[in-house]
Amino acid sequence: TLALSIKQLRKSYANGFEALKGVDLEVAEGDFFALLGPNGAGKSTTIGILSTLVNKTSGSVQVFGHDLDTDPLALKRCIGLVPQEFNFNQFETAHNILTTQAGYYGIKLKEARVRAEELLKQLGLWDKRNVASRMLSGGMKRRLMIARALMHRPRLLILDEPTAGVDIELRRSMWEYLTELNEQGTTIILTTHYLEEAEQLCRNIAIIDHGYIVENSSMRALLGQL
Ligand code: ADP
Ligand code: ADP
Repeated sequence: TLALSIKQLRKSYANGFEALKGVDLEVAEGDFFALLGPNGAGKSTTIGILSTLVNKTSGSVQVFGHDLDTDPLALKRCIGLVPQEFNFNQFETAHNILTTQAGYYGIKLKEARVRAEELLKQLGLWDKRNVASRMLSGGMKRRLMIARALMHRPRLLILDEPTAGVDIELRRSMWEYLTELNEQGTTIILTTHYLEEAEQLCRNIAIIDHGYIVENSSMRALLGQL
């Protein structure tokens, strides 16, 4: 099964700038996949389209067989997104942020509380569950974003530059957590501009530059070439 299939994806922004120029990409179910590229390459644009926040100009996108054009809701249900920027209500508690998120997916409050407890404990946030999110450290906010993305048990987790500005200790613990999640069956795609991060975590990799995929291979094959 393919977790993700992208064909000839193009995006021109309103100002005429063409950020994606015909991207083809396939990610198998169970993969841990890196989309690597320099700043401005088109990584966030690609993720924006997958998460339905950005409208594509042309091309096709399928997630676990659900087409973005014909079945965007089913596609969205399969995806958990960890954005680059903190975008939650800073006055809400960690616990409320998670149960509110569950509500968007139609999860009953009782079940949402169980799931929130599980994730808050796994991610080391349980002691802070009743604290307004603005009082959390940067690292805790990142972990809260991961917890929020996982509330509805998505089959595909997408992280946009997950460890940008994160210290080495937290980075290691996030890597460990993501590896475990992947071993339990969640397909993971992350964008990064650190080859080292991709190398540590990912089995397969695509390199994007100026809106084109310039390389697409297994991590092992890529490292063999360098
Ligand atoms: P579209 O509707 O085509 O998806 P948006 O409405 O999201 O585009 O973009 C609004 C405007 O914001 C763009 O036309 C652009 O001028 C500006 N803009 C936002 N982000 C960027 C960026 N990273 N680089 C250049 N311009 C940007
Ligand atoms: P990356 O995530 O790889 O850094 P992006 O997808 O954010 O790259 O951006 C790709 C290109 O599209 C950049 O040149 C950026 O300035 C441009 N861009 C992003 N958003 C907009 C926008 N709303 N309007 C115009 N240009 C944009």
